Amino acid sequence: MKSTTQDLQILEDIFEQFYPVGATSLGGVTRLGYSPEEDEMHAIFRQIAEEEGFQTYVDEVGNTYAANEAGSPSANCEYYLIGSHLDSVVDGGRYDGVAGIIAGLMVMKWLKEQSIQLPLRVVAFRCEESSNFGRCTIGSGLITKRIGKPQVECLTAKDGSSFAQIFKERGLSMDPKKIADVKQYLELHIEQGKVLEEYGMKVGIVTNIAGPRRFNVHIHGEAEHSGATPMNMRSDALCAAAEFILEVERIGKDESHRDSVATVGVIDARPNVLNVTPGEVTLGVDLRGIDDDSLELMEKRMREATRYISAKRHIPFFVEKTSAATPIELDRGMQKKLIECAERLRVTYKVMPSGAGHDAMAFAEITRAAMVFIPCCKGVSHNRGEFTSLESIYDGARVIYEYLKEEGKSYDPGEKREGDRPEDKAG
Ligand SMILES: [Zn+2]
Repeated sequence: MKSTTQDLQILEDIFEQFYPVGATSLGGVTRLGYSPEEDEMHAIFRQIAEEEGFQTYVDEVGNTYAANEAGSPSANCEYYLIGSHLDSVVDGGRYDGVAGIIAGLMVMKWLKEQSIQLPLRVVAFRCEESSNFGRCTIGSGLITKRIGKPQVECLTAKDGSSFAQIFKERGLSMDPKKIADVKQYLELHIEQGKVLEEYGMKVGIVTNIAGPRRFNVHIHGEAEHSGATPMNMRSDALCAAAEFILEVERIGKDESHRDSVATVGVIDARPNVLNVTPGEVTLGVDLRGIDDDSLELMEKRMREATRYISAKRHIPFFVEKTSAATPIELDRGMQKKLIECAERLRVTYKVMPSGAGHDAMAFAEITRAAMVFIPCCKGVSHNRGEFTSLESIYDGARVIYEYLKEEGKSYDPGEKREGDRPEDKAG
């Protein structure tokens, strides 16, 4: 590590190189997964890494890697992997994902400067955001086999082109060889919430990643003349929806002690006309939590609410479950060590869950995985107003560097690889 001022300058120089890619007239960036803008981001990443003397390569699904000498593919050994993504939502911010890649590059650079021979690779995953194909974490999901060809081959991009065709044109594979030899996975990410800022903490050590359960709730009332239909003769689907929305909020509040949240984020009311009573309403419900029992209870209570509101108002409700993912537990041992590192560096921290999904989910299933959060201004993310200070990226990177430095002390390059990985044990 150089002086803080010098390191912050290097960090800023890296950030500036990514800055203009996909800039929108509104001030944000659009860098959709598997688009030319995302390609450009990956090319810049590759160039920066090569200028630093690191070896780079691209895998079968288009993810880009940079490896230090000890971690190069030819060394053929287990390695530490720091990952994140370089795509964005439409008119999104410049920190979501990018912060993690910059941190990874800084950490790898510091290890090199200190001649620490720890095998490390930094990876930029493709298409973490669901903005282009309606499906998130595609690059990390495919390479870890968390998802497979059946889940992606029918997807369509925002511009109408097919996922399968895009892969074919780029010479990529929807059925790649599973990534191997990842000893541990680490990811730095902006929090995308305002907890760290509210608590005045510099980093978050993540315990779990919430599993979302999503539903469409259809409510079938009657569209009638709003002037000619007396109040006692109506089947107003939007009034029924209003009761249901407040009940979902109550359910979320009741389960907040277990870090669960419940949201109705979508209302589609038809005909949506001033002088007609709302006949049909579809609501989009998002239940999230890190505790399976809590998620189960929230779903049960939500379904009960549809039944009693339906009975009271004589309006049918239909619940359609659109997706469900299990909450992910990150590695407890790694968390403990990261906390020790933050304490040693006097970087204030908060131990916390992640409400948002990340590439780390896929790796937690195949190896030991950990995440470090850094604050973002007012919790704003997936928005062009997103902001994180470079100092925050620096703080988070230092914690990860300190962690790997410690790992380096006990790392034995002669370690056997076979039988050491969770997937080997699981068979
Ligand atoms: Zn992200």
